[in-house]
Amino acid sequence: MELGFRTRQKPRRRPNPCPAIGLALFFSCIPKPSDAWGFAAHRRIVEAAVHWLPHPLHGFFKSHHRWLKEHALDADLRKHTVEGESERHYIDLDRFSVHMDSLYSWFPMGWEEAVMQWPEDSLLAHGIGPWNAESMYLRLIYAFDAADEQRILRCAVDLAHYLSDLHVPLHTTANYNGQLSKQNGIHALWETQIPETYMNGFDLAPAPGHQPAWISNVLGSIWCATLTSHACLPLVFDAEMSIRTDSAHLPVNAYVERGRSRQLMRSPEFVYAYHERLKGQVENRMVSSCKLISNLWYSAWVEAGQPPLPSAEQPVSQRWKKALDWVLK
Ligand SMILES: [Zn+2]
Repeated sequence: MELGFRTRQKPRRRPNPCPAIGLALFFSCIPKPSDAWGFAAHRRIVEAAVHWLPHPLHGFFKSHHRWLKEHALDADLRKHTVEGESERHYIDLDRFSVHMDSLYSWFPMGWEEAVMQWPEDSLLAHGIGPWNAESMYLRLIYAFDAADEQRILRCAVDLAHYLSDLHVPLHTTANYNGQLSKQNGIHALWETQIPETYMNGFDLAPAPGHQPAWISNVLGSIWCATLTSHACLPLVFDAEMSIRTDSAHLPVNAYVERGRSRQLMRSPEFVYAYHERLKGQVENRMVSSCKLISNLWYSAWVEAGQPPLPSAEQPVSQRWKKALDWVLK
């Protein structure tokens, strides 16, 4: 398979569980066709994750939910300006092994262990999603510890983004857009067209009585999510292919209105058939995203010693200050 080439950048280092990543700057990887989850799905996930949080985190994040939604896509937008950003959003596991059993044999794996087993340039070329997510989690602990509101929000929203991406099965394979199996366009079908069409009917709320979990093995939980995504791939590809063969009368592609433009994507009939055959897979991955995001937000706060949150009540006081300023004017 031919690899596309692009410049890399040293991942951010502090705190960084995988410092060796920063030593390799000039390796390449395949450009991804899209941004994992459509934009609307990213926003919906981060908004829903807030409701999985306990007090006082819930109040703090809820008071900033607009900011979180507005910045849910920043990590994707950085791909266009920050070298080395792209590979933080995925990992092509089938570059390392085609068998799930052998994947599990080295799971969970720290960055140091990985670089002892594979060349560092290979790791960078095939994506560093899980290690990057752990790195962002550690940054969040530091941000809570410093009671730095902007850093907390920045790290939290980026962590949410990276974790969400790892819940997308197509972000764990080199065949990320079906280009190796003649299913081009499957990426947008799964992560954009299905959510945009059916997301309003998804139930992303926690079950009654849900309690957040403090995660002791964070990297293990991130790998678990990643491997679960990878295990979804047979259905992702088989369902799409079976519609082509079983329902040959259905139009595969059609021009779809998206904002002011028309794009050639899967036809609405195909999207419906695919959604039926996935049997709730997309919704389940979104729910799992919400759960892991909220658990790691919570765990980071616990690891920081459950410090007072910098401005959980600030929106109210800010409103009073604004009112006072207005009166004094
Ligand atoms: Zn992304």
